Amino acid sequence: MSFKLPELPYALSALKPYLSEEQMNYHYNKHHAAYFAKLNPLVDGKPESELPLRELVIKSSGGVFNNSAQAWNHTFFWSCMTPTGGGGKPGANLLTAIERDFKSLDAFKEQFSAAAAALFGSGWAWLAMDKSGKLQIMPLGNADTPLKHDAEPILTLDVWEHAYYVDYRNERPRFIQGFWDVVNWDFAAKNLGAVKR
Ligand code: MN
Repeated sequence: MSFKLPELPYALSALKPYLSEEQMNYHYNKHHAAYFAKLNPLVDGKPESELPLRELVIKSSGGVFNNSAQAWNHTFFWSCMTPTGGGGKPGANLLTAIERDFKSLDAFKEQFSAAAAALFGSGWAWLAMDKSGKLQIMPLGNADTPLKHDAEPILTLDVWEHAYYVDYRNERPRFIQGFWDVVNWDFAAKNLGAVKR
């Protein structure tokens, strides 16, 4: 079995004007696809190639981890954005959890944005539920994911330069700000609802 790049859940141009078709084409067809292309030869013919991708991320290290995690993280990330009905406020359950753990939606967005902007080098800003059932903002470097920290991913933003450089050049904070206009709260709410704690 080999791991396959899943289809993007919307057209490459669907997130305009936040992300251009060129930006999305590089990110999805070059970067995301490359992680699958690099992962498969590393696990070809080995028992690991039969694992669900998420399990491989949790169990692996080194190059297999880097490529499997980047493969999984990007698939998760695409669903964190939506061309229809994005932004605004989350539904009641997620909003209540955010207000419980961050005081307010605005305070959460500020803290998440600040953590994403401050993350040095390449990485991901995550909202995750820790094992005590509390929501946490986790800025993690390179391919790292809450799955490696016994926490469940709820929402993420890719802050590798490749995620924004075509459209925003060096202006990561402007890329982060625009995320809130397309954020897919329904996907985050679904992830929250699925956590078994
Ligand atoms: Mn990326």
